[in-house]
Amino acid sequence: MKRILITGAAGFLGSHLCDRFIAEGYRVIAMDNLITGDLKNIEHLFKLENFEFYHHDVTKFVHVPGELHYILHFASPASPIDYLKIPIQTLKVGALGTHNLLGLAKEKQARILIASTSEVYGDPLVHPQSEDYYGNVNTISPRGVYDEAKRFQESITMAYHRFHGLETRIARIFNTYGPRMRLNDGRVIPAFMGQALRGEDLTVFGDGKQTRSFCYVDDQIEGIYRLLLSDYSLPVNIGNPGEISILEFAEEIIRLTGTRQKIIFKPLPQDDPLQRQPDISRAKEVLGWEPEVGRQEGMKTTFEYFKSLSREELEKREHRDFSKRNTY
Ligand code: UDP
Repeated sequence: MKRILITGAAGFLGSHLCDRFIAEGYRVIAMDNLITGDLKNIEHLFKLENFEFYHHDVTKFVHVPGELHYILHFASPASPIDYLKIPIQTLKVGALGTHNLLGLAKEKQARILIASTSEVYGDPLVHPQSEDYYGNVNTISPRGVYDEAKRFQESITMAYHRFHGLETRIARIFNTYGPRMRLNDGRVIPAFMGQALRGEDLTVFGDGKQTRSFCYVDDQIEGIYRLLLSDYSLPVNIGNPGEISILEFAEEIIRLTGTRQKIIFKPLPQDDPLQRQPDISRAKEVLGWEPEVGRQEGMKTTFEYFKSLSREELEKREHRDFSKRNTY
């Protein structure tokens, strides 16, 4: 049986990856320090023979007993609110955490896939973004802690690949949504859905002309799965090219949820990228992959999921005050 370590396993993407690899017959070794992750996302797996969980912070030395065939490094805060609250940890998990996991991969002769991000392109001057674009990143802006950690992560991963011959994979993940996202964590989809559920006005930042391209989680997981099992070691964009402005998106959510709320405008966060759309030619060619779930369908499923949660569960999924749990 193949053994895979998944870091950030209690998070949004990490927990969906645990489900997928369990379903594929792997033994899943899940790891999370539970700062932004939530055990609720994986509690259904604890009863399984093929699943184990370590409460561990990967910025400290990582030890896993026994064989390992694959590592998926998905531990990281991933929302602008998180970067403001825990900037040092965001830098550390992308940099020191990645270094530890590369070291572990080398020791175990495991293949490692790291979760990179469209944020490596910063506020892009090229549109849509292909993997050959080097990006336009402000090192010292609030989101610079995430962007630069992820850029360093790609760099050290390629160094381990070239210098040590390690089998490495780099997924550049574009905005992804679906069940298990944290509500109200500042990201636009849970923000709008939470507002629609609570009967609050939808908050559009800036004039709403900035664009994003949203990928449904099942498509994202399929892309990551194929990339891990491919023999391709350069970065691959995984996202849905369907681009929409945030203002149009707010209108779409109002139509979809049937709420009677208005749209209100709030200040644009610093260095909020003006446009973002993945060029997925490489993923199509190398992985034979492209997204299958349209935005309307995906949003409906996601909204139904949030609606199905009890009030208590919803509150638990609200944004938490990390300062109280942060032990660094
Ligand atoms: N945004 C918004 N209202 C909100 C939250 C976010 O208009 O309540 C905007 C945000 O300014 C950005 C876009 O939606 O332009 C996507 O934001 P998100 O934080 O989801 O992701 P990222 O900026 O990292 O793509």
